Amino acid sequence: MARTLIEARPDGWLYAGKLSDGRWAIGYHTLPQDAVRLRACEAQQAAAIASAPYLSACLGALAWEGPMVTRDARGLTATMSSGPGWFAVGDAVLAFDPIAGQGLFNALRTALAAAEAIITARTPDATAYAAELARVTAIYSERRQALYRSEERWPEQTFWRQQRAPLA
Ligand SMILES: Cc1cc2nc3c(=O)[nH]c(=O)nc-3n(C[C@H](O)[C@H](O)[C@H](O)COP(=O)(O)OP(=O)(O)OC[C@H]3O[C@@H](n4cnc5c(N)ncnc54)[C@H](O)[C@@H]3O)c2cc1C
Repeated sequence: MARTLIEARPDGWLYAGKLSDGRWAIGYHTLPQDAVRLRACEAQQAAAIASAPYLSACLGALAWEGPMVTRDARGLTATMSSGPGWFAVGDAVLAFDPIAGQGLFNALRTALAAAEAIITARTPDATAYAAELARVTAIYSERRQALYRSEERWPEQTFWRQQRAPLA
């Protein structure tokens, strides 16, 4: 199987993607306190996968390799997208929630937009760049919220309650 798998659970969502060498990379998007708990205990990492019925049925028995890495993967928007002599691009200007699957595209798109702004104007057009980012941010926020709200099984669970709220 060569596709990426995603499964929602009461305290987050998991994904598994096959690497070119045949191993699976597995991610668990959850609350910070649950990530800390999982990182501390290998048995709980295996249990977290086992608790996802569709994923574990697709993947079968797994042999764990390497340490678990924990990262803050929240979406973020920079308060300033450019200034005298600089433009922020990629995650530095707009980091998406991984559910969006837009981070790599955004890194390339904003790098091109910043380069165009620098090349085409004697004074870099920071206003047009900021306006494009605002437009992308608005579309992303709306789609992200709609996606999280489409999962209706655990509205009272902290993870889902937080994700379903509008972005601050
Ligand atoms: C768990 C997770 C899952 C994701 N899944 C997806 C997905 O499925 N699809 C998708 O499109 N995106 C995904 N993303 C997002 C994607 O990885 C990022 O949006 C993308 O890599 C951003 O590119 P970037 O060039 O802005 O930043 P980065 O890729 O972070 O590159 C920044 C580079 O700068 C280097 N650096 C940092 N500080 C310094 C310094 N002081 N001096 C020199 N170098 C420095 C860093 O080491 C790094 O190499 C995911 C992210 C996470 C965390």
